[in-house]
Amino acid sequence: MKTNKLFCERTVLSFEVFPPKPTSDESVIYDALEKLSKLRPDCISVTYGAGGSANCDKTVQIASDIKNKYGIESVAHLPCVYISETEAVEILDSLETNGIENVLALTGNPSPNIMPNGRFHYANELIEFIRERYDFNIIAACYPEIHPESPNAMSDIQSLKRKVDSGASQLITQLFLNNDDFYRFKERAELAGINVPIEAGIMPVTNKKSIERMVKMCGIKLPDKFRKVIEKYGDNPTAMYDAGIAYAIDQIVDLLSQGVDGIHLYTMNNAYTAERIYNAVHSLISLKCG
Ligand code: FAD
Repeated sequence: MKTNKLFCERTVLSFEVFPPKPTSDESVIYDALEKLSKLRPDCISVTYGAGGSANCDKTVQIASDIKNKYGIESVAHLPCVYISETEAVEILDSLETNGIENVLALTGNPSPNIMPNGRFHYANELIEFIRERYDFNIIAACYPEIHPESPNAMSDIQSLKRKVDSGASQLITQLFLNNDDFYRFKERAELAGINVPIEAGIMPVTNKKSIERMVKMCGIKLPDKFRKVIEKYGDNPTAMYDAGIAYAIDQIVDLLSQGVDGIHLYTMNNAYTAERIYNAVHSLISLKCG
């Protein structure tokens, strides 16, 4: 099923997982999927290492297993900047053959040691390419705090509008820790005539190291409220874990009460964390659905 169809029925809940590193034990992701699938999210998306991090072929396999073994809709991420047209066709054909109907079309995270292929420069080009040749539900990424390479909010929203005009019919946000950034972004999007459903990306930040990594990788801001949490609990792993979960739940409750279209939980393949959050909020999601 195309996941964009779900938004008119209910608040959508999706999870994100990533393929294991080639050197890691594959059973880890399947153990996680076994547990995550019991929570019956509306869909599970699978990331793809843009720089060809040797586990990319796993994206299609895992997305296929989510759909065909666990019976949950899957979304395959597809970053374009390092792939040729032929590779794009191979991947998209393979997704189609496996019955996957949803693709998250991306530029991709930069990889300093690999030259861009040169065929696709930005996500909107891949979106157009897919729309002209295939029948996928095309999803795009968006950035409540503005993409780090965008010069300003206006240019950022214009890029997003280009992606929607090219064929994206659903959006998922980068993680954010201050809901006000999301609400301001929603307003900008609406003013720009972007009317497709937007899922809010929430990542439970449960340890000090992952916060530092996220700030560096995604360029997200730490709001004072969260900074205080780290100051108080950052050196106590158990307390920091609990505080990170509570913070994510607080964000989700606020978003749901404000009528958000959907919640996309960056699970980091940690089913226990996802379960704790799910258990705290699922009745709120059902209420909205009902
Ligand atoms: P775009 O929308 O193409 O924008 C990138 C930048 O270029 C922006 O600053 C934009 O304003 C600018 N821009 C866009 N179009 C033009 C244009 N025509 N001319 C000039 N400037 C332009 N990365 C991965 O490698 N693998 C993943 O699986 C993955 N999953 C993700 C999932 C989500 C939900 C999100 C939010 C991000 C994900 N990323 C992933 C990271 C993403 O690839 C990076 O953030 C990347 O830098 C931007 O990708 P994009 O598709 O949003 O880019």
